Amino acid sequence: MTTELRDKYEVVIGLEVHAQLKTKSKIFAPDGCEFGHEPNSETSPITLGMPGVLPVLNKEVVNMGILTGLALNCEIPERCKFDRKQYFYPDLPKGYQISQYDEPICINGYLDIKGKRIGITRAHLEEDAGKLVHAGADGIAGSSYSLVDLNRAGTPLLEIVSEPDMRSSEEARNYMEELRNIVRYIGVCDGNLEEGSMRCDANISVMPKGSKTFGTRAEIKNVNSFSALQRAIEYEIDRQIEIVEEGGEVVQETRLWDDNSRETRSMRGKEDAHDYRYFPEPDLMPLKISREWVQEIKDKMPELPQQKRERYMSLGLSEYDASVIVEQMGLALFFDKVLKLGASPKVAVNFIMGEITAYLKEEKLEITDTKLTPENLVELISLIEKNTISNNIGKQIITDMMKDGTPASKIVEERGLSQISDTGAIKDVAQKVVEAHPSEVSAYKNGKVQLLGFFVGQVMKETKGRANPKAVNEILKEILG
Ligand code: ADP
Ligand code: MG
Repeated sequence: MTTELRDKYEVVIGLEVHAQLKTKSKIFAPDGCEFGHEPNSETSPITLGMPGVLPVLNKEVVNMGILTGLALNCEIPERCKFDRKQYFYPDLPKGYQISQYDEPICINGYLDIKGKRIGITRAHLEEDAGKLVHAGADGIAGSSYSLVDLNRAGTPLLEIVSEPDMRSSEEARNYMEELRNIVRYIGVCDGNLEEGSMRCDANISVMPKGSKTFGTRAEIKNVNSFSALQRAIEYEIDRQIEIVEEGGEVVQETRLWDDNSRETRSMRGKEDAHDYRYFPEPDLMPLKISREWVQEIKDKMPELPQQKRERYMSLGLSEYDASVIVEQMGLALFFDKVLKLGASPKVAVNFIMGEITAYLKEEKLEITDTKLTPENLVELISLIEKNTISNNIGKQIITDMMKDGTPASKIVEERGLSQISDTGAIKDVAQKVVEAHPSEVSAYKNGKVQLLGFFVGQVMKETKGRANPKAVNEILKEILG
């Protein structure tokens, strides 16, 4: 699509994000909700929706809901309640899902993302449905039927609904990434899009630029990564603009993103709220949330990603470095320990953003998968600061430290890597280098002073990088006159 055509339209995006809360047991039942158990092994009568059973609310779910709401700048009303949302589907044995309709646990929040405020309408608690395993998947290849696994049924979810405040796929991606960071840092959700512990429905519409009325939205499901989210939105924008340009009308519907064919296709017409016949869940009392309870949780709020970024930047990190580190929670926690041990942030960040990140990327590892400890990195940094080794030697040995966990001092000793600051020793090497390159010497003497770098390089090479670069510079200048 031409950019001129695109520019005629304004894009409106609102996201509904489901975060699977990391509780030990389900929202209304004692079954475990860990992933990977044998199908249908975590299925108490409550989960199966047997007649006569009663749901019991898991307090930890409420704690996590409040914690997330506070992290998203939401109000936590003193009262919330649960409702039944009726629909028929084979993965929903009860024939209804317990959710929250008009009195959710969190309301009126927002996130500030790259200088722009994105409103959060609400966040409500609900139970997940089971999982259908269709023909061809999971070892039932060629079969003409689907299997149902109800282990996931009753897993607690927090659905976080944004205002239609985003105006591009990039803004939507940034919002989603920040949400993922937040739920990870506060420990309520793994935030893994690929594995589905965090799921995102993107609502998208287009309208002519300058218009005040939003266009009809389509809801896109099945986006399993941040890049897929962005691709799906881009595709959908083009599709809708084309429809409007041809004089057609966008229909309100749910569409599925297919990341292989890179297109969305219609799944079903969008239900309206009244189709679900919501009514208050008669088996659960409305929930009163005291201000003391909220305060107790507020007091336990860990440092949020935005605060972490700001703290790193106040230590002298660039915005880019701070964001990259915060994006990888394991690395950020590692960095925090390094800082706590008193290392210079700037030297530490050079290693982290340089050799450490390169190695992790290459080996597809997390920092915690390596043998590098914060203590060992701090020791390495102190060896450099004491001039025992050069920065270059440090860069050479850090990878070995990640591989086998050997402390820097031991590697330096075993391999004789300590820096030569003894001017006599450096002078000998410098003298030899100068004698071996008479033509460069005369060029230097005739004014080609940038050749100093060449001589320094040669001395460093001869000493295998161990000579103190400052001393080498001074000695060479002296010899060359
Ligand atoms: P439903 O469950 O029916 O999808 P919700 O209220 O839970 O309804 O979610 C609607 C989502 O769609 C919200 O994130 C909202 O911001 C977004 N939205 C509403 N209207 C539009 C629109 N015209 N264009 C894009 N997004 C919209
Ligand atoms: Mg929806």
